[in-house]
Amino acid sequence: MPSSIAINGHLLNRAVLVLNANYSPMMVCTAKRAICMDYLDKVEVLVNYNEQVHSPTISLDLPSVVKIRDYVRYDNLSVDLNRKNVIARDEHVCQYCGNSKTSLTIDHINPKGKGGLDTWENLVAACKPCNQKKGDKTPEEANMLLTRIPKRPNRLHYFQLYVKAQQQDWRPYLFMEPFEVN
Ligand SMILES: [Zn+2]
Repeated sequence: MPSSIAINGHLLNRAVLVLNANYSPMMVCTAKRAICMDYLDKVEVLVNYNEQVHSPTISLDLPSVVKIRDYVRYDNLSVDLNRKNVIARDEHVCQYCGNSKTSLTIDHINPKGKGGLDTWENLVAACKPCNQKKGDKTPEEANMLLTRIPKRPNRLHYFQLYVKAQQQDWRPYLFMEPFEVN
């Protein structure tokens, strides 16, 4: 039934937590990718969401947490420094005025023109008005204080930001709570 495919299509974009073979969190991918990896027998599904994905011929449980079968050497503590991850670290909030209801830019705290570097400690999310107001000044010169000191995130923190109501099953794997003892 075409309508049920349309209703279910968005489920393929649902976030799936991928664990290394030793259970350390590795990445978050889409359910579509996790289903492909499961089909190729690259992963073991540990937890499913309560929903199913339907096609005209099959219906599949929607994976929530998967573990890869072959251990991957991987620096699981570092997070790539890029625009998306800076904004994620800053939880989609301007680090000067606290506005979360606007599109965000990346501000160099110590401006590039004054030798400011592209580092986790020197980049923050800022709304356009704050970024324009600050211009080529340091926070002190612009009299604009940061709401918190920016730090290099670790991957665990980054994953924890994904945990919403639907991802409660992820919590033990991200050390947010102990596993239940049966
Ligand atoms: Zn702002």
